[in-house]
Amino acid sequence: TYQNGHLTTGFGTGSVGKIPLGLKRKGLRIVVTGGAGFVGSHLVDRLMSRGDSVIVVDNFFTGRKENVMHHFGNPRFELIRHDVVEPILLEVDQIFHLACPASPVHYKHNPTNVVGTLNMLGLAKRVGARFLLTSTSEVYGDPLQHPQVETYWGNVNPIGVRSCYDEGKRTAETLTMDYHRGAGVEARIARIFNTYGPRMCIDDGRVVSNFVAQALRKEPLTVYGDGKQTRSFQYVSDLVEGLMRLMEGEHVGPFNLGNPGEFTMLELAQVVQETIDPNAKIEFRPNTEDDPHKRKPDITKAKELLGWEPKVPLRKGLPMMVSDFRRRVFGDHKEVAS
Ligand code: NAD
Ligand code: UDP
Ligand code: UDP
Repeated sequence: TYQNGHLTTGFGTGSVGKIPLGLKRKGLRIVVTGGAGFVGSHLVDRLMSRGDSVIVVDNFFTGRKENVMHHFGNPRFELIRHDVVEPILLEVDQIFHLACPASPVHYKHNPTNVVGTLNMLGLAKRVGARFLLTSTSEVYGDPLQHPQVETYWGNVNPIGVRSCYDEGKRTAETLTMDYHRGAGVEARIARIFNTYGPRMCIDDGRVVSNFVAQALRKEPLTVYGDGKQTRSFQYVSDLVEGLMRLMEGEHVGPFNLGNPGEFTMLELAQVVQETIDPNAKIEFRPNTEDDPHKRKPDITKAKELLGWEPKVPLRKGLPMMVSDFRRRVFGDHKEVAS
């Protein structure tokens, strides 16, 4: 229950986003940190269409105004340029905390995960808001257990090149649980597995966006290492549904949110070839340090307690991302036949 009593009835598990007939649901005040980014902007769209009032807090490190521009002028929408490493005063019912430099090329230099999360938890404590942390499958490191279950503690190098991200998120989870236990903050933790879709940063170095942009530009697909490492790829609308169910549900988590469909990077390259250009070449490059060998979510817990499971397989989701990338890579008026 929320302190201000806004949320009382009408949407338990399974009915998120739908208002049961005859019940009026008052809009919530929700802050989405990182709301101008890839996942955040899709979440904002869903919250806006549900009738909530949304404040996006973003420093545009990797996010873009274009992702949320379609809400400008709506009195229920506000965009604040702000770095969450600095304190901020807001009055809200819920906090979706996504702000984080999330790709390998960006995440190394930044205290956002620790200091930013602390500030948002301080805010949640002060106003009695419910707080959702978007953690990551990276907390499992290079996992010795496969697929990964939430009870697995992970295998993480604390001093490696990725540790700012994975240890940062592990610390963020710790802080969240401390504020939950110690200060009574209503907390939710999602461990997100690799997610793709429209509005992904084109050049931030993640594998799906790299391959798609490369295939469209007729450049070779860069496969790191031998390409036999695996990932499980989730379409963004499935993730957003999971995040909303988690926020509205009664369980703290952590919950794995990911698509159990597992692919090697070579298989992914093949799907990209099939979708965009069968003649796209593959080029092997040295792999990055500490790269996890495999990753696949066990989503039993989310299925049971949130009634959630992903619906969009890679071969269905990829084409939706490709149309968006085609527009952005070539510009609106220069559609190129595939
Ligand atoms: P993204 O880079 O598109 O979005 C992150 C947003 O946070 C951007 O808009 C960026 O400008 C903003 N931001 C970064 N540092 C900030 C700061 N100090 N203050 C304010 N805003 C700041 O990435 P995304 O894929 O949308 O990721 C969203 C969240 O989901 C992140 O917390 C990320 O760790 C988590 N996650 C994503 C994936 C994935 O595959 N996309 C996987 C695991 C976890
Ligand atoms: N904070 C914030 N907005 C608020 C309340 C707190 O940004 O509305 C920040 C605050 O500046 C502090 C952090 O959150 O750096 C943790 O706050 P808390 O009250 O838990 O800790 P304290 O200030 O007592 O150390
Ligand atoms: N990768 C690749 N080619 C690229 C970018 C990444 O083969 O152009 C590999 C990378 O080595 C890793 C996997 O794809 O094994 C996923 O990388 P990404 O950075 O997308 O996500 P994460 O490592 O965080 O799961």
